[in-house]
Amino acid sequence: MTAWDSEKIITALQKYNLTPDKIHYVVSTHGHSDHIGNNNLFLNAKHIVGYSVSFRDKYYMHSFDKGEEYCINDSVKVVPTPGHTLADVTVLVTTEGGQRVALCGDLFEKYEDIEDPNVWLEAGSDDPVQQMRNRLKIAEAADWIVPGHGPKFQVTEQIRNSLHRQAGNAPV
Ligand SMILES: [Zn+2]
Repeated sequence: MTAWDSEKIITALQKYNLTPDKIHYVVSTHGHSDHIGNNNLFLNAKHIVGYSVSFRDKYYMHSFDKGEEYCINDSVKVVPTPGHTLADVTVLVTTEGGQRVALCGDLFEKYEDIEDPNVWLEAGSDDPVQQMRNRLKIAEAADWIVPGHGPKFQVTEQIRNSLHRQAGNAPV
């Protein structure tokens, strides 16, 4: 969220009896200011911002650029999904019920961008061809998508088919 949204984040954490100092990992899907505005609430956390991994001023090398996933634990991993920026990541979570949830920042802007690609294209895409491929990759790996700017939605076969068609039409 933006730097003006900290109360929303603190209130949301309170619902789970959490405070920012209890958080061990903060993942920002990419470096745009509306996604990183409150990172300094989380001073005990390792921060992943796009392809950068750091704690305080220490940086850790991780080969997101070579497609490598970053496993936080057995049910949470961070995967590279460039396109919106060239260093976007998506968080893939497997719930206790076995549902796979993708928190993907602006790889998907909102549900409406499935049928109208102009929605995500006009939001800015540094590499539309890669973004299209990664949209398909995530739709195949997830049961639910939490997009960057809208409510979560369930991934249906119809959605996967639409993304397949669009990726197939992408100029190579
Ligand atoms: Zn963005």
